[in-house]
Amino acid sequence: MTKNLFIKTYGCQMNVYDSQRMADALAPQGYRLVEQPDEADLVVLNTCHIREKASEKVFSELGRLNRIKMNREAEGGTLVIGVGGCVAQAEGAELIRRAPYVDMVFGPQTTHRLPEMVSRATRGTEKNGIIDTDFAAAEKFDELPAPTGTNRSSAFLSIQEGCDKFCTFCVVPYTRGAEFSRPQNDIILEAQTLVDQGVREITLLGQNVNAYRNNGIGLADLLENMSQIDDLKRIRYTTSHPRDMDDALVAAHGTNEKLMPFLHLPVQSGSDTILRAMNRGHGVDRFFDIIDRLRAARPDIAFSSDFIVGFPGETDADFEATLDLIGRIEFAQAYSFKYSPRPGTPAADMNDQVPEPIKNERLAALQDLITQQQKIYNASHIGSHTSILFESAGRNENQYIGRTPYNQSVHVTGDATLLGTVRQVELTISKSHSLEGRLIESAGATI
Ligand code: SF4
Repeated sequence: MTKNLFIKTYGCQMNVYDSQRMADALAPQGYRLVEQPDEADLVVLNTCHIREKASEKVFSELGRLNRIKMNREAEGGTLVIGVGGCVAQAEGAELIRRAPYVDMVFGPQTTHRLPEMVSRATRGTEKNGIIDTDFAAAEKFDELPAPTGTNRSSAFLSIQEGCDKFCTFCVVPYTRGAEFSRPQNDIILEAQTLVDQGVREITLLGQNVNAYRNNGIGLADLLENMSQIDDLKRIRYTTSHPRDMDDALVAAHGTNEKLMPFLHLPVQSGSDTILRAMNRGHGVDRFFDIIDRLRAARPDIAFSSDFIVGFPGETDADFEATLDLIGRIEFAQAYSFKYSPRPGTPAADMNDQVPEPIKNERLAALQDLITQQQKIYNASHIGSHTSILFESAGRNENQYIGRTPYNQSVHVTGDATLLGTVRQVELTISKSHSLEGRLIESAGATI
């Protein structure tokens, strides 16, 4: 019998990947995805703990779901509610204490046990809710079924979980557990399955993806072996840590033609004092050195990064140093956030918390600079010919959206045969967050 599943995904690409795998794992029980929670027999919130007030947002969403559940039960029906992801991991039993109508609480490393939890929850015999927040990353990847039914041209593939770095602002080491890397053979098999389903670009995911190491194989070796898959055209990886940017990986950017010339490499601050307080494990010079070596290996490589402004103790001079770093590197894009304390992390208890108005000013100044750089970067591509992998239809008639090797979104007029193909396009108009282009040939391009 077909049953309806609604998954709401918060946060990072790791969660997007986990949500897809949850849907795959529940498909054999007859669950198909729907767009609205009030159509669903089972609702899963796949939560994120990174943003401010993450738990409060989850509890307010749960309040809405409880109203749907009560109405449903008044009509003689049922609604099973599950909470997964990092808030579930962090809150555990507390979540069921505050929201006793929740049927299942499970962490990011136990998504493979979801079908069994759902069977137990739908039997209605678990009066106190089901809680499973083990750190079982190896078991999770062994037991999740192969991805099914994809019709996308690009896909995520999770290869590494967890973090041993303990940046003082971050909850991930506490919610996702220690670093774990999947065996290469399992990854290649999953990649081949995706390519057989039409995927042409794979983004390898990990909390510290370049810390990947399994049986002596590092990320550069894995990238090389993946690039042997014939119909796989493009490979990316995210999110990297500067500490794990080894020589082999830098060199791979110059030699592996399927590895796209775009790297998201979070630096967070341009001040050595703040980097030390964040426990990032590297200074500004090391970051510049990595960028220089990557540019030497692949001169056209584009960079993106993450920045936190207003970390405890950040002075005007520290913030100026961050603007200076941005000015020197010239990013193609970047993500920036105001620091906000996460309970249980060392930075939350640091003295010298920066007042909110100063954080707001700094964030606005930093985002202005990044927006300027992004505009300049996109404008520098006008008139150039580049390959685009087409991924989706746009909002306008006959409009299709794809991405350049440098991860820029491009809108092109064409027809549905573009989807899933790589074509040569001339870039004609630049906007701050995207570009427009026109097809310059009907034959396929290689990357
Ligand atoms: S490297 Fe730092 S910011 Fe990234 S997940 Fe680990 S602790 Fe968090």
